[in-house]
Amino acid sequence: MKRDSSASCRVNAPVQTIAEREAAILAPYAMHGSQSAGREHPEPEHPYRGPFQRDRDRIVHSAAYRRLSSKTQVFTGALGDYHRTRLTHTIEVASVARTIGRALSLNEDLVEALALVHDLGHPPFGHSGEDLLDDCLAAEGGFSHNAQALRIVRELETRYHEFPGLNLTREVLEGQSTRIAHDVESTRPLLEVQAVEAADSVTYDTHDADDALELGLLSLDELLTVPLWAAAAARVRRRTADLEKGELRRAVLHELIDWQVGDLLQRAAARLALGDIDSPVAVRRAELVIVASGDLAAQKKELEAFLRERVYRHAEVLSHRREAQACLRTMFEGYVSRPNLLPENSRRRAAKTGLRRSVGDYLAGMTDRFARREFERLFHGPTPGAGNPPPPDLE
Ligand code: MG
Repeated sequence: MKRDSSASCRVNAPVQTIAEREAAILAPYAMHGSQSAGREHPEPEHPYRGPFQRDRDRIVHSAAYRRLSSKTQVFTGALGDYHRTRLTHTIEVASVARTIGRALSLNEDLVEALALVHDLGHPPFGHSGEDLLDDCLAAEGGFSHNAQALRIVRELETRYHEFPGLNLTREVLEGQSTRIAHDVESTRPLLEVQAVEAADSVTYDTHDADDALELGLLSLDELLTVPLWAAAAARVRRRTADLEKGELRRAVLHELIDWQVGDLLQRAAARLALGDIDSPVAVRRAELVIVASGDLAAQKKELEAFLRERVYRHAEVLSHRREAQACLRTMFEGYVSRPNLLPENSRRRAAKTGLRRSVGDYLAGMTDRFARREFERLFHGPTPGAGNPPPPDLE
């Protein structure tokens, strides 16, 4: 039978420009590509990709993004392989943030770019690695994953001969800067940034509890004593009674995300319906729009306090933390005292940024696996580092 190709093959149909498509589907308070403040190094526009779509693609093709697959979110690989890695967390954030973005007619390309870049600066071993590097670099201004993400996309990635970094739009850089200057409220973040912040928080609260359950660090009964989990379970049971434990756990996880996202959307839609926030400029002047309502926000805080106490400070998690930090500290001091062990590009960069910052950049770029391998190879053998050649450059 001959296929009717009229629906998929519209060669002669008039082609909508990116600006026309965005004007048709985005709300006035969304950040349209045509309103972008541009890039640090000016470039011609792409013929068929908008500026934020291009940013998203640049992030996905970066080495730092690929390495997220072997970086710790909360639980290290030593604990098993059910739990989230930094990459799967990032994809979950992008998924929830896009749901929020689409429901509010925001710019989904920008939302996705912001979500995919938001944890790019994490060093190996999660927050344990971050705290350790912050300590090692205290005299050089410290270390934070948000600031490091900016260093990566502005300087450290080498993918283009025309400019250093990825040369992302100022809106994506601004999203990351907002994360650094969390308390500087002179201007509010764009709604696309707010969507990613909210999605990050909904996502990690939910998946950290799920991972902790799977790893046996917590029981379902213990979690059901936390008001937010108890309320979510009650909502589930109102629809379906008599679920066995595994089914209840999965249903509560879905409910927690769906309920919280629904709450964020309801609140944001009601605020935006007033009509006074009618441009990105107005968004920057208004109070935050995409935030949880009072009750849910309070219950979320209780859940976070519970997770802090029972999961992030669990003896097993703390023991991995100590071991990971000892490994990274040995490496930091080892490279500082023997810079010849660094790859060529890190030694070159040391002349510009100082040796300690360059060592910090090199260590922060490593995956958990690569860090452990280099630790064993250079600093933990019978003759630490003796005669070992430097590793290949990480780019
Ligand atoms: Mg995150």
